[in-house]
Amino acid sequence: MEFRDLKKQYCKYKKEIDHAIYEVVTETNFISGTHVELLEKNLAKYIGVKHCISCANGTDALSLVLRAWKIGEGDAVFVPDFTFFATAEVVSLVGATPIFVDVDPITFNIDPIKLEKKIKEVKVLTKLNPKVIIPVDLFGLPADYDKIEEISMKYDLLILEDAAQGFGGEYKGKKACSFGDAATTSFFPAKPLGCYGDGGAIFTNNDELAEVIKSLRVHGKGEDKYDNVRVGTNSRLDTIQAAILDVKLSAFIKHELSDVNNIYQKYNELLKNYVDVPLIPNGLVSSFAQYTIKLKSQQQRDELKNELMSKGIPSLIYYKKPLHKQTAFNTLNNVDEDYAVSNELSRLVLSLPMHPYLLDSEIEFISKSIIEFVIR
Ligand SMILES: *Cc1c(COP(=O)(O)O)cnc(C)c1O
Repeated sequence: MEFRDLKKQYCKYKKEIDHAIYEVVTETNFISGTHVELLEKNLAKYIGVKHCISCANGTDALSLVLRAWKIGEGDAVFVPDFTFFATAEVVSLVGATPIFVDVDPITFNIDPIKLEKKIKEVKVLTKLNPKVIIPVDLFGLPADYDKIEEISMKYDLLILEDAAQGFGGEYKGKKACSFGDAATTSFFPAKPLGCYGDGGAIFTNNDELAEVIKSLRVHGKGEDKYDNVRVGTNSRLDTIQAAILDVKLSAFIKHELSDVNNIYQKYNELLKNYVDVPLIPNGLVSSFAQYTIKLKSQQQRDELKNELMSKGIPSLIYYKKPLHKQTAFNTLNNVDEDYAVSNELSRLVLSLPMHPYLLDSEIEFISKSIIEFVIR
C-alpha cells in the first residue's frame, strides 16, 4: 500500500499523460511556450483570479512574492508555527524575521487571537516592522481568512496565502489560492495537484504585482528580454510539467477532489469513536493533502505507527518538530511556552494514507487495524 499512490493515477490517465509528454518532446520547445500559457490560463480560471504565474516550485513562489514586495531586513513576517519549513525559510531567505504564531487545536491553522497578540508584541518589544502574514492552508484546509483579513486591515499588513497544500480547498464559497494580496501553491508530486518533478505557481488580482513577478522569474527581464531592469532569478515551470499538469488538472476537477472528500467521510465514520478525526468547519472544503488523526499520547502514536508499519500500512508524522524548535531558527530565541498547541500536535498527530485512488477495502483495513490497536 502506498501513502499517496501516484502510480494508480498514472495508469488511469496514461494515454493522455504520455501524449502530453510526447507533444512537448516532439515540438522540442522545452522552456515556456503555449503549454505553460494554457496551464496558467486554466489555473487562473479555476481559482477565479486574474493572474496565475507559474514558477519552479512552491518555495520560489513564496520568495518571489516577498521579493516583489521588497520585504527584507527589519521586517517581521508572521507564520504559523506548525507547517512545513519552507513557509518560514523564505522569510529568512529574503533577510526578514519570521515570527511564529501558535495554531488552532481543531483546524491546526494559524490562531487569529494569538496572531494579533504576536503583532502587538512585535510592535512594543522589538524594532521590527510588521509587514506580512503568511497563513498556511494546512493539510488542505483553508485558514480562517475572515479573521485574518480583519487583523491585516487593522495593522496594515499584507497577506500571502501559502496554499502549497491547499489547492482545491474552499472557504465560504471562495477557492483557496484566491485569498489575500497574493497566494502560492506547489506542484510537488505529493501535493493535491502534483506534477512529475518540481513546480509551483503564484496567484493574484494585482496587475502590477503580476508584472514584477513575471520579470523576477526570468532574471528581472524588462520589456526587452535582454534588458534586465532588476535582479531576478531563474524560476520557470518546465513546459513538460505544464503539459502534464493540464491533464492532471482536468482529473482533479472532474473527480479527484470529490473522491478524497468521500474518503474523508468514510475514514471519519469508521474512526470517529476511537481517535480524534479531522473536522472540517461549516462552509469550508479541504483538499485533503493529508488525513491526520490525533492519538492520546506520544507513546500511543508511536506504537500505532509501528503497528501499522508491521501490517504494511504506511503513515507519516507531519510535523515532528514545530518551526520554533528547528535548529536553523535557534538564534530567534523563541519561548517554548508560546507554542502549547503546536508542541502538543507534534507529539500526537499521525497522517494516514490519503489519495483519490484509495480503495474502500484499504480504508476498511487501515481503520480496522487502528481500532484493534486502540481498544486493546
Ligand atoms: C510543500 C510546501 C511548500 C514548498 O513547496 P515546494 O514545491 O516543495 O518548494 C511550502 N509550504 C508548504 C506549507 C508546503 O507544504
